[in-house]
Amino acid sequence: MLDNNHRAINYLRLSVTDRCNLRCIYCMPEEGMSFIPHSEILSYEEMLHLVTLCVQNGIRKVRLTGGEPLVRKGILQFIDGLSRIEGLEEIALTTNGVLLRDFARDLRSFGICRINVSMDTLSPDRFFHITRRDLFHQVWEGIEEAESVGFNPIKINVVGIKGVNDDEILDFARLTYEKPFHVRFIEFMPVGKENSWSSRNFISIEEILNLVQTLGKVSFVNPNPLSGPARRYVLEGAKGEIGLIGALSNHFCDHCNRLRLTADGSLKGCLFSDSEVDVKTPLRQGKGDKHLLDLIRNTILNKPKDHGLNEYKPRKCVRSMNSIGG
Ligand code: SAM
Repeated sequence: MLDNNHRAINYLRLSVTDRCNLRCIYCMPEEGMSFIPHSEILSYEEMLHLVTLCVQNGIRKVRLTGGEPLVRKGILQFIDGLSRIEGLEEIALTTNGVLLRDFARDLRSFGICRINVSMDTLSPDRFFHITRRDLFHQVWEGIEEAESVGFNPIKINVVGIKGVNDDEILDFARLTYEKPFHVRFIEFMPVGKENSWSSRNFISIEEILNLVQTLGKVSFVNPNPLSGPARRYVLEGAKGEIGLIGALSNHFCDHCNRLRLTADGSLKGCLFSDSEVDVKTPLRQGKGDKHLLDLIRNTILNKPKDHGLNEYKPRKCVRSMNSIGG
């Protein structure tokens, strides 16, 4: 379905929980994180109902995110339920990888087509510093397990932050010589209360590309309909790829195809927008599907034209990334 700016909206990012087993410094406080009460989180049944209605409004691909989707009990049965929704063509997952070693095989057999693993460092000590958990090796084993059960390509998402991991950009780029991974550098975004975003710690994808080019010849990979917002490159002789996602410096709002459903049941047309449409209340009040379909349709139609931010205009979005779904 087209929105009012003629964009085809066919991709739903679904936050299945706001809980997480890491405490990344740019996302959550170390202690005292307050989570949404369980009763306010959508049940799987409610999510399946809403996704089915979204599919009737043109959604073709769902990405499960959070919080950490793999910490929610019963996630495999939920994925199984999603895979039975007629018209839904692809189910993908974004995970921090902590539980991937145990889940990879089942995720594949229950219907996950693509996996993105978030990992901001290749150093175990730094992993502990960034995530406040000593789980680097477990995540790495998870990635290896995902590779061995046949996920390909595995995308590794790296949020580049100056003074935190900018000295590892080349190490991540070199990883693509050894492994067929798609390493994707994502610009740090001003989202949530914990966020320490400032123009001083922001690294643009342009800066990252300049650095990567010091390693060797880099060729541009033509986008395909599944490549999403990343600008894709390959280093000569590499097995994998490099993706650059310039959410701020080179935003992709003009062809953004995303709708979001938060863990507590609100639809959002844009990650950065504070405007939300509550679909949980009418669903729980027993308003019919016609009413819910209209709400979904209107959210799609009124999707903001753009996020209105750039690297010099750091307005923060109030809701935290873990409850919207990054
Ligand atoms: N737990 C899952 C994971 O780690 O991938 C899914 C949720 S997490 C919020 C999704 C992605 O958002 C991660 O790659 C994380 O690094 C990224 N993220 C969180 N806060 C961010 C920010 N302020 N700017 C850019 N990316 C951010």
